[in-house]
Amino acid sequence: MSISKIGVIGAGLMGNGIAHAAITSGFDVILIDTFPDALPKALATMTKNMDRQVAKGSLTAEAKDAALARLTTSQDYHALAPVDLVIEAVPEQLSIKDAIYKELGPVLGRDAIIASNTSSISITKLAALSGRADKFVGLHFFNPVPMMKLLEITRGLATSEPTYQTALELAGKLNKTAITANDAPGFIVNRILCMLLNEAIVALHEGVGTVKSIDTGMKLGANHPMGPLELADFVGLETLLSIMHVFHAELGDKYRPSPLLVKYVDAGWYGRKTGCGFYDYSTTPPKPAV
Ligand code: NAD
Repeated sequence: MSISKIGVIGAGLMGNGIAHAAITSGFDVILIDTFPDALPKALATMTKNMDRQVAKGSLTAEAKDAALARLTTSQDYHALAPVDLVIEAVPEQLSIKDAIYKELGPVLGRDAIIASNTSSISITKLAALSGRADKFVGLHFFNPVPMMKLLEITRGLATSEPTYQTALELAGKLNKTAITANDAPGFIVNRILCMLLNEAIVALHEGVGTVKSIDTGMKLGANHPMGPLELADFVGLETLLSIMHVFHAELGDKYRPSPLLVKYVDAGWYGRKTGCGFYDYSTTPPKPAV
């Protein structure tokens, strides 16, 4: 199946990046969010990020205008009736995703594919809830989506071969390198990465090192471009905690979330998006928060 119109549900961190990547790759995109402030905020973020690409010379001003002209936004799921594929990027909670799939069922065309950007929830489970399990696939993008080259594709138990092939083709058109993961918690990348981030928080909690020494250690000692605490702030601590809860329940005790991570989320310290996490973002450069 050839894709030309894409719906993106959720205009947050990932949804706006996915919409950005899709419109700059020539797709028409309908971006949906039910929260009134989310859509203008996403549009402003996309415009700012494209301006940065124009300044760097990786996008022309004409291509930016053409890309933004391919985007429409709405708070109403009915706007998704003409799309060939919907990519759902709403918070990592099964009940929210389930409710959205139920809304989409009667709205979408019979052949439309639903993809979830979930980081940790079983694609087979989400596919069953969607009511079109053969046309359901995991499309796991990485943040920031316009820059990150990887797309992790996951087939649920019932995902059809044509749906999988369409996902592979889409990855190519978005200029991403696809890897295929089996449907297991966290797929390939997050299963390994989230354990590392959580372990860095455990080490901080136990006083093994400071925020600065842990991040510097992993950057210079393991050649990581970002330290694990800096990366956890970037991902969003509430997102990391939701993922760790799923892993803990499904993969066992070695994935127990750090109590310090729970405390930061309880405090509303979600990282970059709230201005404070392991770092305080009110200064440039950010300083360790505690
Ligand atoms: P986010 O909180 O930044 O954005 C979620 C958006 O969904 C918000 O704008 C919110 O208003 C909107 N929303 C909530 N309920 C909705 C509804 N019923 N209908 C429409 N919109 C609704 O979250 P995020 O970090 O973009 O994560 C989204 C998904 O992507 C999650 O499944 C997460 O696990 C996954 N993911 C996140 C990352 C990351 O680095 N943050 C990376 C890969 C995948």
